[in-house]
Amino acid sequence: MNLEIAKNKINTAARVAVLTGAGISAESGIPTFRDAQTGYWARFSPHELASPVAYEKNAELVWQWYAERFITCQTAQPNAAHTALAALEQRTALTVVTQNVDQLHQRAGSQNVLELHGNITTARCEKCSHVQALSPDFVPPPICQKCASRMRPNVVWFGELLPRAILEQAWKTFEQCEVALVIGTSSLVEPAASLGRIAKESGALLIEVNPEVTPLSKYADLRVSSSAIKGLGALLGEYSR
Ligand SMILES: [Zn+2]
Repeated sequence: MNLEIAKNKINTAARVAVLTGAGISAESGIPTFRDAQTGYWARFSPHELASPVAYEKNAELVWQWYAERFITCQTAQPNAAHTALAALEQRTALTVVTQNVDQLHQRAGSQNVLELHGNITTARCEKCSHVQALSPDFVPPPICQKCASRMRPNVVWFGELLPRAILEQAWKTFEQCEVALVIGTSSLVEPAASLGRIAKESGALLIEVNPEVTPLSKYADLRVSSSAIKGLGALLGEYSR
């Protein structure tokens, strides 16, 4: 399939499902989890910073890591790929399913966003599960406004299950779409690995935007071998202006 036909399909599709991963945020200057582990943080494995066991062992350290990441995300700005998706949502029924926790899709104007891994801009009460936004100058750990208990980062850690309701909505979104766009994810971990394939098996057109070949690539009707900004610029054309 060529780019022009794909553009036309996106343009006329009643339902578009989008999956985004770290690649789209990297172009806003947000390093991947591993790439952010420089300096002091280089000595820790990801499991020592982002797992229930790590938090139990040293909540202060885990919060310190997340407080830094929070600032990085707050300082970053949505890029042209984020805004192109938000603009397309004005024209068609579009849902973004994201592995990212930075909320750049929402800040670009996307309304229908399913966060598979939670988000870094909020905290969740360890006791009553109340979720509240972090203020830019918060001192970790935040304290729950409802019950005064300690709060944890509102993200999914290694060894934790993804939020079930979100996951079910994500499956449904990809099963029912006419066009599936998978952008900037290595498609190695579930459910990211399967969502595009499910769409394809349900009869959707599957487009992958990624500079690297991934396990999903062989199922794609069209592979756009470039970064998110460049790839979406080519695919969405007028929408990205
Ligand atoms: Zn609480």
